[in-house]
Amino acid sequence: MICTTGGCLCGAVRYTLVQAPDHYDACHCGMCRKFSGGVEFGFDTPPDSVTWEGAENIRTYRSSDWAERGFCGTCGSSLFYRTVGDGPAAGFLSMAGGSLDSLEGLTLTTEIYIDSKPSGHAFAGDTKKMTEAQVMAAFGIAPEGN
Ligand SMILES: [Zn+2]
Ligand SMILES: [Zn+2]
Repeated sequence: MICTTGGCLCGAVRYTLVQAPDHYDACHCGMCRKFSGGVEFGFDTPPDSVTWEGAENIRTYRSSDWAERGFCGTCGSSLFYRTVGDGPAAGFLSMAGGSLDSLEGLTLTTEIYIDSKPSGHAFAGDTKKMTEAQVMAAFGIAPEGN
């Protein structure tokens, strides 16, 4: 059974998903690398499909004109990436894959910003790979980081 609950390392922030994700993705961009301290995994879900507990402990960092990143104010765990305002890709939410209580049963399907992937990383399986330019085109925004 695929997990529908997650949260940060210290437990101050918890969430429950209405629907379990069926896959997750990896982003190799330099911003996600810094934010996560590794490779940022994520799964897209509608914002209204997440019920938060301890939401008052969430802090956000506005990482670009159109998006912000959420993390726990106590332990610093990555929680999400989401678009803000009504600009490109409005309403997009990618939950930090590693925040799920278990990734068992989920398949890593896509790697984005593959052109930024450090040469030391290689994931098993036949993933779909997208370059920065392909991701930006899919989002409908100009290529200047995310
Ligand atoms: Zn925490
Ligand atoms: Zn990224």
